[in-house]
Amino acid sequence: MDNKQQNILIIGAGLCGALLALRLGQRGFNVAVYEKRPDLRTTKLSSGRSINLAFSDRGNKAMKLVGLEEKVKALCIPMHGRMIHDKNGDTLQSNYSGRKHEYINSVSRNDLNALLLDEAEKHENVNFYFDKTCQSVDLEKTTALFTDGKTQKDFIEDADVIIAADGAGSALRKSYFLDRHFLFSFSQDYLSYGYKELSILPNENGEYLAHKNALHIWPRQSFMLIALPNLDGSFTVTLFLSYTEGTFNFNNLDTEQKVLEFFKEEFPDALLIMPNLATEFFKNPTSPLGTIKCSPWHYKGNTLLMGDAAHAIVPFYGQGMNAAFEDVVVLDSVLNLNLENWEATFKTFEKHRKKDTDAIADLAIDNFHEMKEHVADPIFQEKRKLEMLLEKKFPLQYNSKYAMVTFNENIGYQVAMLRGRAQDRAILNLLVRGEISINPKATKDELQAILEKINHET
Ligand code: FAD
Repeated sequence: MDNKQQNILIIGAGLCGALLALRLGQRGFNVAVYEKRPDLRTTKLSSGRSINLAFSDRGNKAMKLVGLEEKVKALCIPMHGRMIHDKNGDTLQSNYSGRKHEYINSVSRNDLNALLLDEAEKHENVNFYFDKTCQSVDLEKTTALFTDGKTQKDFIEDADVIIAADGAGSALRKSYFLDRHFLFSFSQDYLSYGYKELSILPNENGEYLAHKNALHIWPRQSFMLIALPNLDGSFTVTLFLSYTEGTFNFNNLDTEQKVLEFFKEEFPDALLIMPNLATEFFKNPTSPLGTIKCSPWHYKGNTLLMGDAAHAIVPFYGQGMNAAFEDVVVLDSVLNLNLENWEATFKTFEKHRKKDTDAIADLAIDNFHEMKEHVADPIFQEKRKLEMLLEKKFPLQYNSKYAMVTFNENIGYQVAMLRGRAQDRAILNLLVRGEISINPKATKDELQAILEKINHET
């Protein structure tokens, strides 16, 4: 483990792979990264999925680790809360926290990925090879089979350790699955919903056509639209909709007229600023949403899965990338333990990490329902208002579930889930039973009494 001359092969130069390469490079390892796509810094790639992402404190902790906090901040647009749009076009802002310094950020996937590649490449012990698709991994020999995208020739690469950060369709995970001697457990659960990306462009002066510093949501019970701002004045809009259920669904929205009718009925204020809707709707893909859980993530001390390759989740908590970045922070802290070999390192990493990535996978599913159904519900809105007040008045004592997941990077997702769910249940029960109520002018003593009731009920 102390021998930094060891060769580490990383599959995938996406968000997780590029950050991992940078960190391992900083630690002095020899790192070779093989990426199936061309270099995104020099080739315009069709975006494929989520042009922008919500970046929050767990991701930022990783940026601090590699010394990139300020550079990433320059790419970020703060989003202080959800801007909820009703069918009349009326809006209501619901902040993410009662503490002013707690907000999430919209960041471009490409810009962030490019920055990580640039920074990793500054280390002469880190090398990237683009247009190389991994086909399979030999777990015993620690070799990977690749195809070169330009020549279509296959070649094999050897390494001391192979780490796959090749996303939800991981080639290493497939090799685990196919190895009959390896007891590998795997589950993949799709939602019956898909998503489609659309856009709101800026006006002719490059100005935003909706409030810039918010995550916009149009919640409609069984489906929803969201929009996140981009630095160029546009918003990336995402429609989450069932493939088959309901009056309108992805399967039956098959003409421009139906799409326009759907938006006119459900999202009239969005439609007014989406002149390209009909064209984009049929040009852009509809993609599925799923959760992947598996174990073990490692084979002996030879191979390891990280990021979406180990734990892909649905996007409703805005945590997939943040969790992938946190993987790198956790692996780094395990490397600090200087354990006897890679097997002990990978085992310890997985033991620390899996309970937390399982928890965020479940929380992300919960948030799917919360965002499309509950955010517009009066009792839910009461609960959020109370939580804002408690966070404001008792900044050191009270954290909502959202705050624990998103802003408390020093507690694990599992603890955040368990505490947060118990707290949510307690507040909703107390509100429904009329044992607490919200008064924005409540004194500190009155709020203290509410906090005690919540703690007692939890
Ligand atoms: P990926 O980003 O998928 O990167 C994998 C890389 O490996 C890619 O570059 C790929 O080309 C490469 N690769 C794949 N196969 C091979 C192969 N065989 N050989 C070589 N290279 C290969 N997360 C958030 O934190 N906040 C959000 O707001 C958010 N929003 C999202 C919205 C949507 C619609 C979706 C789908 C996801 C969202 N996520 C969000 C999740 C986030 O996108 C992922 O968790 C994150 O991209 C995981 O990073 P990764 O590097 O593990 O995988």
